[in-house]
Amino acid sequence: MTDAPLVIAGAGIGGLALAAALRRAGRRALVLEERDDPGEAGAGISLWPNALAALDDIGLGNAVRDAGCATSSGGIRRPDGRWLRRLSPGAVDAALGEPMVAIHRATLLDLLADAAGTDTVRTGTAVREMRRDTDGVTVTTADGATLTADGLIGADGIRSVVARHLDPGLRWRYSGYTAWRAVADIGLGGAEPAETWGPDGEFGYLALGPDRTYWFASQLAAEDQQADSELDHLADRLAGWHEPIGKLLAGTAPDAVLRHDIHDRDLPRRWASGRVVLIGDAAHPMRPHLGQGGCQAIIDAVVLARLIKATNNLPTAFARFDAARRRTVTRIVRQSALTGRALHARWPIGAAMTALARGVPEPLLLRQLAAVAGANAYHPA
Ligand SMILES: Cc1cc2nc3c(=O)[nH]c(=O)nc-3n(C[C@H](O)[C@H](O)[C@H](O)COP(=O)(O)OP(=O)(O)OC[C@H]3O[C@@H](n4cnc5c(N)ncnc54)[C@H](O)[C@@H]3O)c2cc1C
Repeated sequence: MTDAPLVIAGAGIGGLALAAALRRAGRRALVLEERDDPGEAGAGISLWPNALAALDDIGLGNAVRDAGCATSSGGIRRPDGRWLRRLSPGAVDAALGEPMVAIHRATLLDLLADAAGTDTVRTGTAVREMRRDTDGVTVTTADGATLTADGLIGADGIRSVVARHLDPGLRWRYSGYTAWRAVADIGLGGAEPAETWGPDGEFGYLALGPDRTYWFASQLAAEDQQADSELDHLADRLAGWHEPIGKLLAGTAPDAVLRHDIHDRDLPRRWASGRVVLIGDAAHPMRPHLGQGGCQAIIDAVVLARLIKATNNLPTAFARFDAARRRTVTRIVRQSALTGRALHARWPIGAAMTALARGVPEPLLLRQLAAVAGANAYHPA
């Protein structure tokens, strides 16, 4: 170990959670973030009990529960409003250990940044290159400056430059559909949270509080498209879908809508090499349908900080991290992709998905959900 800091590329959920976890473990980290104001990004996010358990480990679970909105009920509907599947009240909490929490992404990032400590994040600073040697890593930023790091953690998302450094051959593919998200300035007015499955995709909504609702949608679309008004475009595509979908769209400010094409990217052959390691989407980008990308980034961060504290030897800790996390997360990446493909498939796969949603016995469904997202699915290393 040297006096040089651990450098984290990226102040997203994973990078900030890691900085907070390391601070609690007594290690100094410096987070380099290419954006000028990373906290500005995003709409809502669902945090499942596995991520809440990891946040408990670094003393942040209750702050996140208090700032978010607990969600225990809900199900899947058809565009005409009929329920395909409605989970029994209380059953989800019993199976998962506690309710899922929906929270505004900016609120979550603020909580993590506060826990990481002042002067930990340097914004407007993109990592461009890195050179590894036995004692450290030399990191070059976009303005040409260099700094010496004890180790480098790539938490720089799906387009990660650190991942490409470890595995230059990573391929990138469009999934065939695009996603929209926003926060509406109205409450759900008593409606149960739900996901509605239609012919080309889905629309879902979760309360963030009495007067704010997070909604998300995905639809088959050509790549790289933009509408003059994403809100009008979506309202047209979802015309005739049940309420409160229309009300939520009408209650959303047009400039609050985010649109992102959903891509797959290969998983790097290795997540760790010497003093460089990857976490979060940099290591394992996944489609959003299980609501696990951010949750797994948080778990990565907490597990990695524990391993660094336990071994005090970075190459060993990083290699153990890869060994501890790869199998579980790869399974979730595959399940997320499978769910996304089925959700956006036309007949007969779409029909099979509907039949499955209706026919799988609740205990089996909950067991499967708990294996991915339950409090017991969090295994500290
Ligand atoms: C529509 C949608 C809905 C989703 N819903 C959920 C959900 O409900 N629950 C859930 O758990 N997950 C959800 N996810 C997934 C979740 O958003 C991601 O998995 C999560 O944000 C990953 O966090 P991260 O910190 O690894 O990466 P990111 O959030 O991508 O953060 C990476 C950071 O690195 C910065 N950066 C990039 N390159 C560099 C560089 N070279 N130098 C310095 N900084 C750099 C970026 O600016 C960014 O701030 C959803 C995703 C989508 C698309």
